[in-house]
Amino acid sequence: MANDIVCSVIVPLYNEEEVILETYKRLKKVMDSINEPYEIIFVNDGSRDKTASIAYELCEKDKNLKLVDFARNFGHQTAITAGMDFSEGQSVVVIDADLQDPPELIPQMIEKWREGYDVVYGKRKERKGETFFKKFTAKVFYRFLRSMTDVDIPVDTGDFRLIDRKVCEALKLVNERNRYIRGIISWLGFKQTGIEFVRDKRFAGTTKYPLKKMMKFAFDAITSFSYKPLKFASVFGMLLSTISFLYLIVVICTRIFTTHVQPGWASILAVNLFFHGITLIILGIIGEYIGRIYDEAKGRPLYIVRQTKNFSEDKQNKITGRM
Ligand code: UDP
Ligand code: MG
Repeated sequence: MANDIVCSVIVPLYNEEEVILETYKRLKKVMDSINEPYEIIFVNDGSRDKTASIAYELCEKDKNLKLVDFARNFGHQTAITAGMDFSEGQSVVVIDADLQDPPELIPQMIEKWREGYDVVYGKRKERKGETFFKKFTAKVFYRFLRSMTDVDIPVDTGDFRLIDRKVCEALKLVNERNRYIRGIISWLGFKQTGIEFVRDKRFAGTTKYPLKKMMKFAFDAITSFSYKPLKFASVFGMLLSTISFLYLIVVICTRIFTTHVQPGWASILAVNLFFHGITLIILGIIGEYIGRIYDEAKGRPLYIVRQTKNFSEDKQNKITGRM
């Protein structure tokens, strides 16, 4: 029975053929040990390797394992969203496929949930096997984001977390496209707590977040939770005109009270180029917001499902994400 499911585990997968089997085994072992009905939902985010075929095969043997197979790559956050849309458990756990988030932490999360917390997030105490660049940018980013927004988004936490069914339902009401799920969950409120853990290195394979995706992700996070970058233009503009005005006075005084004439084409050109650069940056920032407004305006479905496996009849034939 659908409502008996105590825990749904959502695993987004993008080209994870090297890890999928091990992840499945470790997850299954942990979930079996809890002795409660559960479901594992694999979301294949348009993988181009054998991830999908392995997932279909596993589904044949295990009815607790379900699969949402996307028509193409829609992105990590969208894959998680789809998993939540399809999930039925009273609690929902989101976990990466690469075993960087230890499945063994799930029973502890469930315990905290039973104590009455609605959101139990994993807080990374240490990150193993990641480049200095990734660790450094992540650290700076989480703190920068925190200073930019009024929403209390905990630092150094990823999407590895348990949420209660009611948080999941609330999350379904949030329809924005370029999503930063961990931020939205903080924005929702509810009773939240964290468990610290050491983030392992990837079990196998390489990161599916190259710099370009990381940048997009960072921009999504900032634009969906802060208008401050837009205000940057006006603050900077005001500052600049004040300084220019003072400088103008200096220039006029120099002209009146001294005979000193200043040659200075090069410096004028340099200053000019500098401010053109600033103008373009500001235009770019505005562009980031406008692009996202355009995405929202088109109102396309969040994702398209190619096929599903092992879901109840009403979900089996769902092909589009919510509008
Ligand atoms: N992922 C996804 N779609 C994407 C990129 C990543 O579903 O377009 C999944 C990936 O399979 C993994 C999780 O998102 O389960 C996190 O990705 P990854 O481990 O590569 O990111 P990192 O830990 O390096 O930040
Ligand atoms: Mg990873």
